[in-house]
Amino acid sequence: MSSDENTMPAKFDTIKFDAEATAKNLGHANLKAFQTWMSLEPDGVAGPKTITKLISRFCSMPDFGNAPEDAQWPTSCLDVLCAYAFDQVNVGASVVREAWLMALETWNHTCGIRLTLGNDLNAAKVWATDGPLPGSTLAWSFLPQNRCDDRIEQRYDTLVTWDRDFLAKVILHEIGHAIGLEHSNNQADIMYPSISSSPYSTYPGPGDKSTLVRYYGPPTTPPPLPPPPGGSNVKHFSEYLAKACSDYDPPAPPDDSGGNLFP
Ligand SMILES: [Zn+2]
Repeated sequence: MSSDENTMPAKFDTIKFDAEATAKNLGHANLKAFQTWMSLEPDGVAGPKTITKLISRFCSMPDFGNAPEDAQWPTSCLDVLCAYAFDQVNVGASVVREAWLMALETWNHTCGIRLTLGNDLNAAKVWATDGPLPGSTLAWSFLPQNRCDDRIEQRYDTLVTWDRDFLAKVILHEIGHAIGLEHSNNQADIMYPSISSSPYSTYPGPGDKSTLVRYYGPPTTPPPLPPPPGGSNVKHFSEYLAKACSDYDPPAPPDDSGGNLFP
């Protein structure tokens, strides 16, 4: 990882928001769900420990408590086109594209989903825009609804100072939602909802992998990707993929009784 990682919490601290108002807006049930995710006593009361956790920036408050069981893309449509339109992200177009490619390739190397990047928001099954988001939310994403004609919207915050690795981490997390992952309370998983833990995960953790392989089977070999525009940080990108692949533990093959990887 780049040395930028060590400076990220300071960037978060520049973001001001009202944690008590956020807790009130979440509502009792969602606050209890949030406390459960954060391994706090789920009493639905915004006490000091809960406020401390709320001050940490995390993803996608709306998805707390609203996730369907086994949200996933059906196995008959694992080619999922993604597209984004980021007009205001400060890091530059080539870095944004590189962050997306990192995120999509990481999931492609984790399970049998086949995520590709396109330009047409209307044609994409996962489409993302950016804009100012309230409270501590960095980004949000809907979950798939077990149907091939689903279209999933995402939004990324414009009130934060992004850089490539930080943006890639958040895109990784949000694409995780878009392929069916709910939040995890294991900090080793990308789906841990807070990004302020140190060190935060940049690679799929055991929870991420086991769920996705159950949904989509083991990864297939995707076609080579074109280099990112400008060719910047290609070495880093390769190392990133190599790490993602080396972390992957292939599941045992199905037994002779005809076991099926797909639920
Ligand atoms: Zn999330």
